[in-house]
Amino acid sequence: MRSVEEHQRVVAELIRPRAAASVPLEHAQGLALADDVVAPLSLPVFDNSAMDGYAVRAEDTAAATPDHPIVLPVAEDIPAGRTEELTLQPATAHRIMTGAPVPAGATAIVPVEATDGGVASVAIRQQATAGKHIRLAGEDVTAGTTVLSKGQIVTPATLGLAAALGLAELHVLPPQRVLVISTGSELVTPGTPLQPGQIYESNSVMLAGAVRDAGATVVATATAGDDVAQFRAILDRHAAPEYHVDLIITSGGVSAGAYEVVKDAFGPSGQADEGVEFVKVAMQPGMPQGVGRVAGTPIVTLPGNPVSALVSFEVFIRPPLRRAMGLPDPYRPHRAAVLTETLTSPRGKRQFRRAVLNKETGEVTSYGPPASHHLRWLALANGLLDIPEDTVEVSAGTQLQVWDLT
Ligand code: AMP
Ligand code: MG
Repeated sequence: MRSVEEHQRVVAELIRPRAAASVPLEHAQGLALADDVVAPLSLPVFDNSAMDGYAVRAEDTAAATPDHPIVLPVAEDIPAGRTEELTLQPATAHRIMTGAPVPAGATAIVPVEATDGGVASVAIRQQATAGKHIRLAGEDVTAGTTVLSKGQIVTPATLGLAAALGLAELHVLPPQRVLVISTGSELVTPGTPLQPGQIYESNSVMLAGAVRDAGATVVATATAGDDVAQFRAILDRHAAPEYHVDLIITSGGVSAGAYEVVKDAFGPSGQADEGVEFVKVAMQPGMPQGVGRVAGTPIVTLPGNPVSALVSFEVFIRPPLRRAMGLPDPYRPHRAAVLTETLTSPRGKRQFRRAVLNKETGEVTSYGPPASHHLRWLALANGLLDIPEDTVEVSAGTQLQVWDLT
């Protein structure tokens, strides 16, 4: 049997970053920058008013007091967006709005609250200090400085800065494009009636959710019956070159029974540029695994039991997927927690058990049976207990590693 670590290495080897690409700002959020961003212009772009009020020469208001306002003629009205370059003459004022360009010659803005708000002339009740309420060009960003660094994750604030600098696109590591295929002749799409012997198909929506949660893109989800020709046709359709699929994830059809469609599809008659090895990994759940390439595209074939499929995704796929996209914390945060009960675990297999981690007390309780079809418990758990291969019993009070899934 192959160890978990070895299979992690094999899968990680397969998953490669996409070439960096420039994408419109609205598609860049959450992605890692592929290059530093150097400011093409300064921010503010020009000296502008921080207040609605009057642009003046500070010295023209030196004598202003509440009892003896200074009255100046208002020579111009400057709303935000006015583009002519204006000059303020001595002993005059320009009415000016927040964000409007400060006219040449003005040294201060008098807030409208300190005036009578006049349009033809203005009575100013307060002395202005030079520089007051003027946002200077370049005080935020100087053109030519590096404002964002390679590897930084694009946030809403990053987008705002990029747009303010006039950038329409950012150069990023694009999301990995993942195709998710479920297999099983017993599977029926939720929302349609069940016949005896059928069950609802739950892996594709779950794994697609996990792919998105990892920061990648789901190209398509599809379900094939246990029929090699049908499975092949679905694969050919959805993994066609024009969809630029980086990774195919299948579930089901890889264990030891008959009708193992995924195993059968990649048997000895497979094409030259494909090869999928099917292995047993020393873990529970999730022992039967497969990994390789189909028509050159990486494929990871997960077992069909829903818990096995999701735990396998967590253990083998999520970390390299995030790493390939340059995203932080490829591995879920691990922490040691104190077990509240005594548990047994199979010898020779690394066991991942659903668990509830109490972050305040640092205690962890396993949740539900270890069986790989109990989805309800998985949905309620917030962690995975990581029990080493050689452990057969862990007693209450022991410290164990827990993966924090929150
Ligand atoms: P398999 O790995 O194909 O042998 O499937 C193992 C178990 O998981 C069987 O009980 C299947 O019915 C179940 N199973 C496989 N795929 C799915 C799926 N997509 N949704 C729900 N259950 C599944
Ligand atoms: Mg099956």
